[in-house]
Amino acid sequence: MSNIVVIGAGQAGSSLVAKLRADGFDGSITLIGDEPAPPYQRPPLSKAYLLGEMPRDRLFLRPEVFYAERDIDLRTGVAVTAIDPAAKTVTLGNKLLGYDELALCTGSLPRRLPDAIGGALEGLYYVRTLADVDAMEPEFREGRRVLIVGGGYIGLEAAAVAAKQGLQVTLIEMAERILQRVAAPETSDYFRTLHARHGVDIREGIGLARLTGETRVTGAELTDGSVIEADFVIAGTGILPDTRLAEAAGLDCVNGIAVDHHGRTSVAGVWAAGDCASFPHGAGRLRLESVPNAIDMAECVAANLMGAGKTYVPEPWFWSDQYDVKLQIAGLNHGFTRVVVREAEGAQSHWYYRDDQLIAVDAMNDPRGFMVGKRLLSMGKSPAPEALADPATELKSLMR
Ligand code: FAD
Repeated sequence: MSNIVVIGAGQAGSSLVAKLRADGFDGSITLIGDEPAPPYQRPPLSKAYLLGEMPRDRLFLRPEVFYAERDIDLRTGVAVTAIDPAAKTVTLGNKLLGYDELALCTGSLPRRLPDAIGGALEGLYYVRTLADVDAMEPEFREGRRVLIVGGGYIGLEAAAVAAKQGLQVTLIEMAERILQRVAAPETSDYFRTLHARHGVDIREGIGLARLTGETRVTGAELTDGSVIEADFVIAGTGILPDTRLAEAAGLDCVNGIAVDHHGRTSVAGVWAAGDCASFPHGAGRLRLESVPNAIDMAECVAANLMGAGKTYVPEPWFWSDQYDVKLQIAGLNHGFTRVVVREAEGAQSHWYYRDDQLIAVDAMNDPRGFMVGKRLLSMGKSPAPEALADPATELKSLMR
């Protein structure tokens, strides 16, 4: 094998090619991305970068010379439009590029509001790419009114940035509570209170009926019949794995591009990693949307491209920054039956149990809780809930 092509120059694609070279792969590597910028980190887009506290050049994952110095052919601003697994080629513009092995790191796409409810109006923004955020930044001026649709992490982070900059923020969440899909009611309560303290008007159990306006958005009609005026709107309504190329090429897709334990797709010579890929997990499949997953899975695929035969075992963790709160999450809380709340030394953490087993932790301004939780999860240990809840318990003692 001498020629590896990677589609998608994001977190996973960049990690994959770096790992290949670090592990001594000496064949040709081409990394193709349709965005104009070299690979960059997305998390600051809804946090420090949008706040104006992080300069643009600090977003880049690696300096551009990194790729040149390692003889990685980084091609930005160009989309792959088709894959032909039989001929082992990809289409770039009107050219074909051959490969021996191909990796798909195409990420995900924001769920867009349909045109029928105002999805084509000016003044509606998504938070996915650097270009998206650069386009909305001029709207973030004190006193303006923003409507945020969706109370997941992206919507809440955008709300925090807007409130910090003195905008009037209304956030609507169709589900009964913010963060319903990803967190326990205790964590929703914590963040609802935090946002209320900063003047954000959070309305739960209320969806968007339609955006109003002729060419530019002027507000929205909500599902409870109320009408709201807004100078601009941000939709944080979730993402979908970008499986367009894979599906067109006949690869199996189940909630993302379906891969096996090693990152192989259903078609020989084609691999996938990151947001776009779902992998076997328990009796089903799992797809994660996080930086740690993109890096770890991409590095696993890189090792396997060099014959390592490694199984991808995720150790899920995630973070979110809102105002002066850093939330750190370890584990997966799917199917939790109980939540133990621990408050100690100004920090708060929520520990998820499935029956007697510890499965996840949400730690708010509690790096120690996060570290200990992550460690307990990797050790497969489940401390007694009563001990955890007791602020007098020294967390580290729970690992013994
Ligand atoms: P991406 O980084 O999205 O890269 C995929 C790339 O492939 C994109 O550039 C795409 O344009 C390109 N591409 C797709 N199709 C083609 C094609 N046909 N040809 C060429 N190029 C193509 N995660 C965390 O863990 N913590 C956080 O706090 C956090 N905050 C986030 C905040 C925001 C605003 C966003 C958007 C995401 C955040 N995430 C966070 C999620 C994290 O950034 C993603 O999980 C991660 O970027 C996934 O990496 P990826 O390489 O799979 O996809």
